[in-house]
Amino acid sequence: MICLFCKYHDTDVVETRPCDDGISIRRRRQCSKCHKRFTTYERVEQVPLVVIKKDARRERFSREKLMSGILKAIEKTSVSLEQADAIADVVEIEMKQQETTEIPSKFVGEIVARELKNVDKIAYIRFASVFKRFCRRRGLRKRSSKIIINSQSHYATVRNIRKSFFR
Ligand SMILES: [Zn+2]
Repeated sequence: MICLFCKYHDTDVVETRPCDDGISIRRRRQCSKCHKRFTTYERVEQVPLVVIKKDARRERFSREKLMSGILKAIEKTSVSLEQADAIADVVEIEMKQQETTEIPSKFVGEIVARELKNVDKIAYIRFASVFKRFCRRRGLRKRSSKIIINSQSHYATVRNIRKSFFR
């Protein structure tokens, strides 16, 4: 980094410490020519995640929207708010691990379905039934319909999930 004062090309880091926000690092630098000191900050670049909808529309990823989709799927099930929050965490982490910041909504839905499967069958089926792909899987449809029939509000719930999550 060049010196702020004399523009000399070489400066030394004399002190490095993390900032109170926990996500940035403060560095005290000293110019090797004029010996003046200045401070630089290093932060993790926050790249906004974008969700690509089925109709190719792009929308900025919203944790709130994701949560509301998950909450609708777990209504009247054994899944706790804490578990729902943990699922949203997994989704966010896996989205950030992708090489691109533009993530198809299908990818997001698949993670949610996978995670719900581990915690609650009904919530999983409710959620997964929103996917067309799900219906094409033989056997699964038959077994799941038994559970679905027991829940009169199932279709309303599915509509809600679709509305808040996939559109
Ligand atoms: Zn200098």
